[in-house]
Amino acid sequence: LVEDPSFWNDHNVQVLIRMRPLSNMEKMAQGYLRCLKQESLQTLAWLGHPEVRFTFDHIVSETISQEKLFRVAGLPMVDNCMSGYNSCMFAYGQTGSGKTYTMMGEISQEDGKLVDDCGITPRLFEYLFTRIKLEEENRRDERLKYSCKCSFLEIYNEQITDLLEPSSTNLQVREDLKEGVYVENLTEYNVKTVDEVLKLLLQGAANRKVAGTDMNSESSRSHSVFTCIVESRWEKDSMTHLRFGRLNLVDLAGSERQRSCGAGERVKEASYINKSLSTLGLVIMSLVDVAHGKHRHVPYRDSRLTFLLQDSLGGNSKTTIIANVSPSMWSVFVFM
Ligand code: ADP
Ligand code: MG
Repeated sequence: LVEDPSFWNDHNVQVLIRMRPLSNMEKMAQGYLRCLKQESLQTLAWLGHPEVRFTFDHIVSETISQEKLFRVAGLPMVDNCMSGYNSCMFAYGQTGSGKTYTMMGEISQEDGKLVDDCGITPRLFEYLFTRIKLEEENRRDERLKYSCKCSFLEIYNEQITDLLEPSSTNLQVREDLKEGVYVENLTEYNVKTVDEVLKLLLQGAANRKVAGTDMNSESSRSHSVFTCIVESRWEKDSMTHLRFGRLNLVDLAGSERQRSCGAGERVKEASYINKSLSTLGLVIMSLVDVAHGKHRHVPYRDSRLTFLLQDSLGGNSKTTIIANVSPSMWSVFVFM
């Protein structure tokens, strides 16, 4: 996979497969072996009988570092956003496949530097603030100034909660001509340093809903959306110019099917979760058709997730989906 600022090329949607390594526990557990193997840059092989091969546009190596993955998939988003376009990154996959590891990873710094296990989100901001500083210096004569504001929310049972103000629940998505689509009463924080962003990430992560299922006590049944709006303002030919770009970082709920869940509440949750997930799938498929010149209705309003991301999906916006996959036989049995 090439590191390339024109990552999306002519396609506004890119899908990238990331298979995580087997965990030590999986390596030790007798009978629960590897069921998937990467065969080439574009194929994964199912190791059962009969053998099956799956082909994708991009598969990153199982041993890819967090840093390298950021440079491949994250960095182009920052460039895009600073040019005034919106972008979305989604982590998709079953519980335990590495979504949160990919998006967040370990959120901490050592000697003022992000740790190696740190995920894409903190790295995006480290890079964003570096780029902002450089640009502002380069264009001092235009008085270029950037400002960034962040919000963090959760969608659980199709209800929106502010992860930075958890007493704010059941928030509504609104649309108006001037503002576009926005979440009413969602708190936004101005951020200038990586440290400030890490604080918000930790605060939000602590407020995420985590419910145990029969299979995985840590499984998250909710979608989380961390959004940053990057505003730039400069003067040229005695005019003030203003530009906005929106960066949306989405850690989706587990994609496992609902019948693998326990009874009662969990099943109700799963059907709601499926609503946002399945609508997202339909929206993306419709957008692909639109990109091929077909007239299609894009069902943004059918779920909270797609409605609130409406201005960042389609049009000039860029979308990256990281499909996280577990190589373990354990994941096959548990979620069948
Ligand atoms: P999910 O959010 O999809 O439920 P997690 O991100 O919590 O999954 O990952 C499950 C476990 O696997 C965690 O302990 C995580 O640290 C580990 N893990 C996931 N991906 C990787 C990876 N690429 N390399 C090393 N460990 C990983
Ligand atoms: Mg998770």
